[in-house]
Parts: sequence; structure tokens; C-alpha cells
Amino acid sequence: MQDATAQMALLQFMQAGRPKVAVPSTVHCDHLILAKEGATKDLQNSLETNKEVFDFLSSVSNKYGIGFWKPGAGIIHQVILENYAFPGGMMIGTDSHTVNAGGLGMIAIGVGGADAVDVMAGFPWELKFPKLIGVKLTGKMNGWTSAKDVILKVAGILTVKGGTGYILEYFGEGANTISCTGKGTICNMGAEIGATTSLFGYDDKMYNYLIATERKEVADLANQIKEHLIGDSEVYLEPDKYFDQIIEINLSELEPHINGPFTPDLATPISKIKEVVEQNGWPEKIEVGLIGSCTNSSYEDISRSASIAKQAVDKKLKVKSEFTITPGSEMIRYTIERDGFIDIFEKIGGVVLANACGPCIGQWARHGADKKEKNTIITSFNRNFAKRNDGNPNTHGFVASPEIVTAMTIAGTLKFNPLTDKLINEDGIEVKLEPPVGEELPIKGFDVKDPGYQAPAEDGSNIQIIVDPNSNRLQLLESFPEWDGKDFVGLRLLIKVKGKCTTDHISMAGPWLRFRGHLDNISNNTLTGAINYFNDTANLVKNTITGEYGEVPAVQRFYKQQGIGTIVVGDENYGEGSSREHAAMQPRHLGVKAILVKSFARIHETNLKKQGMLALTFADKNDYDKIQEDDIIDIIGLNEFAPEKPLTIILHHADGTNETIYANHSYNWQQIEWFKAGAALNIIKKQFANK
Ligand code: SF4
Repeated sequence: MQDATAQMALLQFMQAGRPKVAVPSTVHCDHLILAKEGATKDLQNSLETNKEVFDFLSSVSNKYGIGFWKPGAGIIHQVILENYAFPGGMMIGTDSHTVNAGGLGMIAIGVGGADAVDVMAGFPWELKFPKLIGVKLTGKMNGWTSAKDVILKVAGILTVKGGTGYILEYFGEGANTISCTGKGTICNMGAEIGATTSLFGYDDKMYNYLIATERKEVADLANQIKEHLIGDSEVYLEPDKYFDQIIEINLSELEPHINGPFTPDLATPISKIKEVVEQNGWPEKIEVGLIGSCTNSSYEDISRSASIAKQAVDKKLKVKSEFTITPGSEMIRYTIERDGFIDIFEKIGGVVLANACGPCIGQWARHGADKKEKNTIITSFNRNFAKRNDGNPNTHGFVASPEIVTAMTIAGTLKFNPLTDKLINEDGIEVKLEPPVGEELPIKGFDVKDPGYQAPAEDGSNIQIIVDPNSNRLQLLESFPEWDGKDFVGLRLLIKVKGKCTTDHISMAGPWLRFRGHLDNISNNTLTGAINYFNDTANLVKNTITGEYGEVPAVQRFYKQQGIGTIVVGDENYGEGSSREHAAMQPRHLGVKAILVKSFARIHETNLKKQGMLALTFADKNDYDKIQEDDIIDIIGLNEFAPEKPLTIILHHADGTNETIYANHSYNWQQIEWFKAGAALNIIKKQFANK
């Protein structure tokens, strides 16, 4: 879990009443560090601004047996690859790029915080069984081409939706030529095509990486069962028989790619970039080049990029764009500093940022971004949708390998092709950059002085979790109350949502991020993005008691204070988008009893059930039109609540007429118990209390 998501996940976990987490778990503080002036100052600022959040995460981790990686220790996925991932393992993580660990042969899947809470609390985790796409790699990369270009090419083929519901399995003789960290890069960006996860079979490159990261025991164990850590040979001989789809890429012919702007699947081979930039009128001048991140900050990436930067120094090239380097972990930072690479980057004006997400997640106080000027940046990160890096919707973000980013930064123009073009140096002489060279793993081995890890206490039972009751950012949770055994009668309509309603509409991100650990404060954004069917306006609903219109959270708080239950009515695919559990917890916290929609996004529906809400769908979708603004609504039949048995809903209209409609649901017996207990976690709490 990362610091941003871990707050609410751990607050919930504390509700479970367990003395320790049920599976090995870690917290990584990588999101809350704002990149502004460079690593040292930025880290110090973050430690001061976020002190109470870090202290909370540290103490909860210590108490419940969770490994804690302090701010500055590194980015979650790099730290996981270096310390925890292993061939044949399975892991879930509260971030879509958890899939990075597929580079070390692990089934690693990104989930929402609620899923992580379940697993840490001892619940099983479920997933609709994915289909398989096979990516057959032949040949061997050479010159400027790197592992990043494999996934940039795949993204161009499959598009941002093409991997949804699939696991991508890479195989073929080409796969064995790619370094373990390069495999990590490829799997990491599988998230950009929606893949459930991506995976490579175990090979010597993984063995070497395990040895280099001081895990010989794991490497030897993997070797002993290696035939079980790769696909069966008959599968690879006749892949068409076993995969739902096959893609073939010849690495010997693969060109470096530049993907973007605004989407990671707009793939342009470097030989075409000049004409594509001209055709589209994209800003040619590169303002900033950024390398590193969880996707591309391996020793191999950095050493190859440094070889390009060194050429700039040796060939007297003046670097045209700003340049930043984000190491993925303190181990990488320490090792590349020892080996002189940071010195080389600084010689070409590079600024080393903290070992954290920084500009990759918009934690970048970029000078002038508020002016919203059209401009170009190029990064070795993974995501590049509008506003992702600096909040400016006009920043054209392009994604490429770190060595290509470094070369483009030196040239300062997006029309540069380092494979063919020359640059003029300070003496007015034409020079050409040679292809990058680097080492997969450091010859002198990795090194680090303080990796930034805090091991949990052996016995955490006496550790007190202290949360300031006046805190704005953190609030201990109270268990949601049990169902009182009565039908829901006299519900008021909080809002009838019109059209799209994502979890962002239900619980906005942006400035609200800082309240992710404070349920009551973040509840002040509940449904503020949803459009009210009756006035086509966001965040303006009728208080049917006073007759006045007000903001959704304020009106809901009024009802709650009066002890009046409410219902939210929604359209199709209600709750799509990010799986954030806040979108289910906030309505529950504010006293909404039921959500009745035409259809649900699957994860949000489950999240609502887990929080003890009634998640219902119209038996007849046309009944959506029968809901009127002043309706008083009864939900009948809860005492006979059973799987596949519809519930009855009575609409009492303001004109004195009544209508009866029916609601379907997808609760199984266990989920009905969650509803009765008030929340899924309440059941676990009871189980532990009875032990
Ligand atoms: S570096 Fe970017 S993609 Fe990686 S974990 Fe951080 S925010 Fe996510």
C-alpha cells in the first residue's frame, strides 16, 4: 500500500480487531512528496507537511506486523521488485502498477484499498478469471531499442482498453534476452492497456537479479522448481491453441518508440516522429525531460542514460531542455551515486528528485504550469493523460525509454531522431550520439547505507495508535451500526443522478486527496460531481423537508441530523472508474441507506455491500423515470432478504398517489450477513472478539 491509499485501508483494518495482518504486508511512503527544488529540500518539506500522516502509518505498521518504508526509501514497485517479489508468488497491491512484479515472475495485481483490507483481515480475494494474451518475442534488441519499446509497441497494438480482462504472458527466445528489470518495465506498463497483469516465465535473468539483490535462497529455490515457473513447452510450441490472442514482436527489428501525447497508446516509431509532430502541430520544443519513476529507474536504465549524458559532456553539447532524474529507490540512488552517474547527470544540468513518485503523480510544483501554456515534456514514466504530471491540461506528455528521453532532452526538440540525426556542439561542429551502453546489474554490486525500512515490532500489542482528535487529515473510524431488523421506510430522495456517475463524481480526488484519512472531512465532497436529474446541475439538490436547495453533503447531513434515512438513485454503470472505497464509505457514513440504479460497476457494487449498504438495481429500468423529486420511499421485505429474491419498493408521490416497483440485487448469503452486521469488517471483528 502507498501512503495515500494506506491511510483509509489501515483505518479500516484496525476495525477488524486482528492483532496482526493475515498476510505479509508493507506500506510505502512515496506519494506525499512534492517535487520542487530537489531531493533533500523536497523530502524535508514533505516530512514537515505530512508528519502526522507518516507517524500514523508508521505506528499502525509497527503494531500490526506491517513493514514500513519511510518517505525517501523509494517508490513502492521498485522497492517490491528489489525486496519482495519472487517467481511463482502472488500479490495484490493498492495501485495499478503493482503488476511491475510480473518482471520477476509473480502474479501481481492492482486492487482497491477495500480489497487490501479484506486480504489483510483474512478474507479471500476474488477475481473473474482472466483470459490470456500471448506475446511472442523473437530476436534480440540492439542499439537504441530497450525493454520500454516492447510495451510502447504493445500499447500501440492493443490500445488502452485492449488488455482489459486479460493476462499478458510474454514468451519466446527473445523474452530470455531481456533483463529482469526490463521485464518489470514491460509488465509495469501493462496497466496502461488495462491488463489484469502481465507475466514472464522464470529464467536466468531473474536468477541473476535475485542474486544481485541478495536473495540467493529464493533464487536457489526457484531453480529447483523452475519447470513449474514457466509455461509448458507444448503451449509455446502451439500458442494458438492455448492463448485467446497472440501478438508477435521481432526484437531485432523493433524501433524505439515515443508514445503520446495525452494517451500511452498513441505509438510513433522514432523514424516517423518528425513527420508526425509536424502533421499534428504538437509543440516541437521540449521543455523538460524526466527519467526514472517506478517504471524505468533500474541500474540498467540509469547506466544507459548516463552513457548518453556523458557523450553530451565529452562532445561539448549544450543541453537544451531541463532534465530531472527520479531514482526508484534509495538502493538505486546510492548505487548510481557511487558509480558516478549522478555526477554525470548533474554535469548536464540534471536535478535529482526524491526517491518518490513526484511528477509522475502530479506532485510537481512545476514553475509556470498555472499559466496553462501549450508545451511539451517527455518522460520515461508510464501515464501521460492530460494534467497527470503538472496539472496543466495543455502539457503534451510523451513517453519513451530513459535513454531516448535523455537524448531528446539534449537535443531539445521532439523532431530529433538520435539514430540518424546530428547535433551542433559548442564549437559549431556536427556530432552524433552513439547508441547507449550500460550494465544490467552493477559490477560492484548494489549498495545502500540506509534503505529507509522500519521492521514491525515482534509483539505490537502494547503499541498505542495516536490520532489527534482535532486532526484535519486523520480520524479513527467507528464501526458502522448493525441493521436494526426493520424495513427501510420513509426514505427521502437525496439525489436522482443523471448519466455518468464515476467514483470520482461520488468522491472527487484533486484537493480532496489530503483528506483520504479523515472520513468525516472527505465526506464533504460526497456526490458533489453527480448531475441532479431534476435541474441538470451538479451539487444542488432539494431538501424535501425545508423545500430549499443546497449542496448534496449539506442536505444529507441535515437528513442525518433529523434521523431520516435517504436513498440515491442512479443511471447505468454507477460507480465506474477507480475502485476507491471512499465512494462507498462516505454515503454510508452520512446516513444513506440504499443506492438504487439501472446498473452498477462491479467493484463499486461490491464495495457498497462490504460497507453494509443496500445496492439495488431496478427490475425494470424504465422505473427510473417513476422516481420523483419529492418522493418518500419504502424498501420492503428486508426480513426475507435472500439471494435472487427481489425487494419491493413503494414510491409515495407528493400528489398522494403510490406506485410499487421492484428491485433486484446480487447479494449472496454471505453478503446478506455483511448487510445485517452493518459491514463486512464487523463480522471479522466479532469472530476475533469470540476467540
Ligand atoms: S511512479 Fe508513478 S506510476 Fe509509479 S507508483 Fe508512483 S505514481 Fe504510480
